[in-house]
Amino acid sequence: MRLPYGRQLVDEGDIQAVSETLRSDWLTTGPEVRAFEEEVARFTGASFAVAVSSGTAALHTAMHCLNIGPGDEVIVPAMTFVATANAVVFQGGRPVFADVDADTLLLNSEDVKAKITGRTKGIIAVDYAGQPCDYEALRKIAQDYGLFLVADACHSLGAELRGKRVGTLADLTVFSFHPVKHITTGEGGMVVTHREELAQKARRFRNHGIETDHRQREEQGTWLYDMVELGYNYRITDIQCALGRSQLKKLPAWLQRRRELAAHYSRLLQDLEWLTPLKAAVEGHAWHLYVVRLKRPEWRRPLFQFLRRREIGANVHYLPVHLHSFYRTRFGTGPGMCPVAEAAYEQILTLPLHQAMSLEQVEYVVNSLRAFEAEAM
Ligand SMILES: *Cc1c(COP(=O)(O)O)cnc(C)c1O
Repeated sequence: MRLPYGRQLVDEGDIQAVSETLRSDWLTTGPEVRAFEEEVARFTGASFAVAVSSGTAALHTAMHCLNIGPGDEVIVPAMTFVATANAVVFQGGRPVFADVDADTLLLNSEDVKAKITGRTKGIIAVDYAGQPCDYEALRKIAQDYGLFLVADACHSLGAELRGKRVGTLADLTVFSFHPVKHITTGEGGMVVTHREELAQKARRFRNHGIETDHRQREEQGTWLYDMVELGYNYRITDIQCALGRSQLKKLPAWLQRRRELAAHYSRLLQDLEWLTPLKAAVEGHAWHLYVVRLKRPEWRRPLFQFLRRREIGANVHYLPVHLHSFYRTRFGTGPGMCPVAEAAYEQILTLPLHQAMSLEQVEYVVNSLRAFEAEAM
């Protein structure tokens, strides 16, 4: 695929940073991990950051830190990647699906309120496509009902809401460093928070539930460790964090690039009356995905195939989570539960957008959409 919907950009500086780490004493739990955590904390404005092996591991860690267990309900948007809801299930909890707003596909606060029961413990908001949710409204709901608020910010590293960075808007915020995301470590993720006790719990959970890590024991000159609760091996390597640190330096330029590309799409798509880009209501949108809605759902499949033939890797994000077989069988979910997300799913298409793209490539995509229109009309 010449033009995938998203992909990494790795340069010689990144490769150099990884090579240096491979020649160092620490391949895991070493200085690169700590430095990456500190730099992401500084970048997002969060007080604490804990790096883990994936965004999914970060979501699981968040659910553990907030004590989700059997019988607990957590409200999640229907329009997200399955991992958001899966994290609740990992802990024995029940994800309750809330609908989204039609124009942005972000969590609808009214439906969140409507889905609260006596068993609800928290809300996971998802910054779909890179646009921050309405955290002011969600925080108010969380406060009024005594719930926690987690931000699944796997799409929105670097986004801002009214001058506040994503990472400071919820109790815990989760990032992913998968290659299609803003910066990559191959696989990787991070939990950030302003609450020290949650960060400590996250550190323990990623290391089998053991109080100290190998490096700390080395420093303290002891072999003794205590496993105080059940945890996992969710550690990330220094090799990966060296890549992450090198990538992070380029993030401000890449965010600007993504914003330019998105603006170019929006300008060029204005006179295509058969599709509408999702509404970008927030100035600090981080533009992980560029999503359009087709007026005619029956055009999506032929358009998808037409674009593929032109080496354009359009995609669909996402089939609503409650329509997946696992959720239907385990939790009895199904069509009709989140009608806005379900209707949107029939019409959405993700166009290529990533930092390695040029303005000319945006024009190639838009010209291909016009060519499809000429054939279809
Ligand atoms: C990518 C993504 C995840 C999972 O991240 P991984 O690093 O792939 O495990 C979770 N939630 C959302 C919304 C994502 O886009």
